[in-house]
Amino acid sequence: MFDLIDKVAVVAGGATGIGGRTAEVFAAAGAKVVVGDLAVDAGRERAAAIRAAGGDALFVPVDVGDPAAVEGLVSAAVEHYGRLDVLHNNAAALHLFRRDVPLADMDVDAWDEIMRINLRGVMLGCRAAIPHMVAGGGGSIINTASSRAFTGTVDSAGYGTSKLAVVGLTRYVATQYGKQGVRCNAIAPGVVVTERAAARMGDAEYAGILRHYLTPRLGTPDDVAACALWLASDAAGFVTGQVINVDGGLGAHQPNFAELSDLAGRG
Ligand code: NAD
Repeated sequence: MFDLIDKVAVVAGGATGIGGRTAEVFAAAGAKVVVGDLAVDAGRERAAAIRAAGGDALFVPVDVGDPAAVEGLVSAAVEHYGRLDVLHNNAAALHLFRRDVPLADMDVDAWDEIMRINLRGVMLGCRAAIPHMVAGGGGSIINTASSRAFTGTVDSAGYGTSKLAVVGLTRYVATQYGKQGVRCNAIAPGVVVTERAAARMGDAEYAGILRHYLTPRLGTPDDVAACALWLASDAAGFVTGQVINVDGGLGAHQPNFAELSDLAGRG
């Protein structure tokens, strides 16, 4: 039920972090995986690692904001493996985080680039994949949103706004193509400690963030990959148009949870 045997999956933004782990988990579950990413060396390494572990994968360089490149990514999957069953739209412009400053100081070019990669990229992926999925009898699209979509914080208005738009787009795709067998869902992760995040996050920062989570630890790429695997598989055949919060309960509690926990001696 949870396997992806005979399925073909594209993971856009599949070179590193969450997408890299998801590509590995999809392949281990039996999928033939096309890793698409702007990061050419890391993407090639990811596909090679999957093959070395006995899986089937190829790498295709892509800028998800470029319509022709995204068409090329999807075409490569169909030409090489014969069909397309799963698309994970996971790429995001995380390198622009430092330029995603409070709005009065926002650089318009940075805003546009965040939207181009985070939102237009997801739209282009859906647009390219849907005809192949419909022709093949259906498919599963999994978009990566974020817990930052649902509430504001001191920075990253561009990022959060783009991710809330991804949630909206997810519902539109689910609504427009559900009857043709295409499911579309979003995963909204809380803080996920990827290798890159682990390299820059000290113990004090980890502990400070963790105070606001209901779990004893922060997220890992495996947490998101497991959810993506479920959504990709036939086990989630009756699940569409949903946002799954893989967020350690971050969005489930009152804002003063950490302070009340301290007062109660449970912090
Ligand atoms: P990451 O930087 O490791 O992964 C992002 C991937 O997207 C990279 O491989 C990068 O090269 C690729 N990418 C960037 N721009 C691209 C472009 N224009 N075209 C193609 N590929 C491009 O970061 P991550 O933390 O693994 O993030 C993965 C997804 O999860 C993102 O959508 C991010 O917004 C989301 N997310 C992450 C967290 C977290 O705490 N790590 C939390 C919430 C949501």
